[in-house]
Amino acid sequence: MVGSAWGATDSMSVKSADVDVVVVGGGGVAGLYLLYRLRGLGLSVTAFEAGSDVGGTWYWNRYPGCRCDVDSLEYSYSFANDLQQEWHWPERYGTQPEILKYVNHVADRFDLRRYIQFNTRVTSAVFDTNSNLWTVTTDQNGIIRAPFCVMATGNLSTPRKPDFPGIDDFQGEWYHTGLWPHEGVDLTGLRVGIIGTGSSGVQSIPHIAAQAKHLHVFQRTANFSLPARNEPMNAQTELTHKAEYPVRRKAAYDTPFGIAGYPLPDKSALEVSADERDQIYERKWEQGGSISFLYSFNDLLTNKAANDTASEFVRQKIRSTVKNQEVAELLAPHTHPMGTKRLILDTNYYETYNRDNVTLVDVKSAPIEEITRTGLRTAQAGYELDAIVFATGFDAMTGAMLDIDIRVEGGPSLKEAWSAGPRTYLGLMIAGFPNLFMIMGPGSPSVKAQMILGAEQHTDWIAECLQHLRSRELSRVEATAEAEENWVIHVKEVADSTLYPLANSWYLGANIPGKPQVFMPYVGGFGPYKKKCDEVVANGYEGFVLRR
Ligand code: NAP
Repeated sequence: MVGSAWGATDSMSVKSADVDVVVVGGGGVAGLYLLYRLRGLGLSVTAFEAGSDVGGTWYWNRYPGCRCDVDSLEYSYSFANDLQQEWHWPERYGTQPEILKYVNHVADRFDLRRYIQFNTRVTSAVFDTNSNLWTVTTDQNGIIRAPFCVMATGNLSTPRKPDFPGIDDFQGEWYHTGLWPHEGVDLTGLRVGIIGTGSSGVQSIPHIAAQAKHLHVFQRTANFSLPARNEPMNAQTELTHKAEYPVRRKAAYDTPFGIAGYPLPDKSALEVSADERDQIYERKWEQGGSISFLYSFNDLLTNKAANDTASEFVRQKIRSTVKNQEVAELLAPHTHPMGTKRLILDTNYYETYNRDNVTLVDVKSAPIEEITRTGLRTAQAGYELDAIVFATGFDAMTGAMLDIDIRVEGGPSLKEAWSAGPRTYLGLMIAGFPNLFMIMGPGSPSVKAQMILGAEQHTDWIAECLQHLRSRELSRVEATAEAEENWVIHVKEVADSTLYPLANSWYLGANIPGKPQVFMPYVGGFGPYKKKCDEVVANGYEGFVLRR
C-alpha cells in the first residue's frame, strides 16, 4: 500500500488511510483521465474496474455496428496535444474497435494500468466521519481506505437485464448489446429477433440483417434517426482540424454540447417560409450528424410548433426511404418531439426495412408476453427464433452508483437519499456524503455533452479542489443541503423550459419500471454549466463546506 498525503499530515484522524483517493470505475475514459490527473498531483490512487481491461463503455458494447455518434476528431481527449496530433482516426465516426484501441493506447502511453485493479466490482463504500475515511469494499474481498472517493461509474453502464417471463427456458442464444461477447457472435443463417430500437438497436439492425437468415425487429416505440454520413477521414479535414485543435478545444467549453465548429442558429423555425425551412433541413440531412441538424434553428428543443416542422421533415424522409408504407408509418415517430429522446445516427437503418429478410413487428399494440423455448410470443402471434438480441438499454445515470451500498455511518444510504430521484450539487457532490465526488453525475450536462470533454472538465474541477484542500491542510469537503436544493430546483426549471420532459426517455428514468421520474441531465448548456463551476471556485467554493 502507498501512503496518503493526508495521512502524512499531523492530523490523527486520517492516519490509517491506504491511499489518498479511491476511483470506482478506473478503466473508462473518465477513470483513466482521473488517474492521469491525480497522479500528476502526486496523490496516491487506487482504481477498481469491473471489466478485465480498460475501455469502459467501449469495452462492454461490442455489438455489430457499434460506433460513436460524435465525430472522432471531437470524441477524444484534449488534455495532451501530442496525443491528439499523433492519433489518426480512420473514419469520420470512430468504430467501437477503433475507440477501444485508442483508449488502450492512452492507458499505455501514460502508464495508467498499474493503478487499476481489474475484474473487481466495488460493492460498498462507507464513510466514517470520525476517521474521515471512506472504506471501500470489493467483490474480491478487498478493503481499502481513503479520505476521498470518486465515482467514475458511467452513465450508461448498467445494462437493463431482460426480465421477460420464460427467458430461462429459451433454447437458443440470447445477448444484450451492452454485454456483447468479446469473441463476437456469428448470426449467419440464423432466425434472429431483436428487441429495442434505441441507438444500440438502430446501429446493429443493418449489420444483423446482413448476416441473419431472417431478422424480426420488435419495436415498441419508433425513434428519430438521422443519417450519420460516415466516411473515410478526409486528409484535409484532419489536417485543418488538428491545426485548429487548441482553439477548438477551448471554444468547445463555451458551447451548448461541448463541441465547437457549429455556428449557433439565430432564427426560429417559424420565422422562415416552409420552402426555406425544408432547404435548411435538407442541407443538414445531407451533411449528417445530430448537432448540426438540431442547430437548424434556435428553437427546435424549446418550441413545440417549431419542433413539429423538423419532426415532420424526418417522418417524410422515412416515408420516402421505406418502400412499404405500412412499415414506414410504424417507423415514423409520433410519441415525442424530435431530439427529446437521444437522437440516433444511423447508416442504412431505414433502408434495411426494404430487405426481404427483415420484418418489423409492432409490440406497442401487441406487447411481448413471454420468451418461449423456441422464440417469443406477443399478444398477437408467436415467432420462431434461433437467437434473441436485447437492445433494451440501461438503468441510466444512477444505476451504477445505486448498485453500490454507499452510505455514511449512522446516516442514510445513497439509495435512501435518492429515493425520490437523484439530488446533487452540480452533479459533482451530494449533500450528506462528504469527500465523495462523481464524474458527470445527475445534474451535470453529462450525457447531453461530449462525454470526454465532460469527464475532463469534472476531473479538472475535482483535482483542483483536492489540491486546494491539501495546500490548506483541509481534509473535508461537502456540498451544503441548501446549495444542493437550489441546484436541483434549477436543473428542473431549465428542463421544464424545454421540450425534453415531453418524452418518456431514459433521461427521465422512464425506461425503468418503478424508477422515480426526475429529469437527470442538466440541459442549460455545457458553456453556462462550466461557467457556474468556475464561479463556485472563484467564490471560495460557494455552496460547499471545507474544513479540517
Ligand atoms: P435505449 O435508447 O434505452 O433503447 C432501448 C430500446 O428497448 C427502446 O426502443 C425500448 O422501447 C426498448 N425496450 C425496452 N424494454 C422493452 C420491452 N419490454 N419491450 C419492447 N421494447 C422494449 O437503449 P440503447 O439503444 O442501448 O441506447 C441507450 C443510450 O446509449 C443511447 O440513447 C445513447 O445515449 C447511448 N448509445 C450511444 C451510441 C452511440 O454513440 N452511437 C450507441 C448506443 C448507445 P421504449 O422506447 O418503448 O421504451
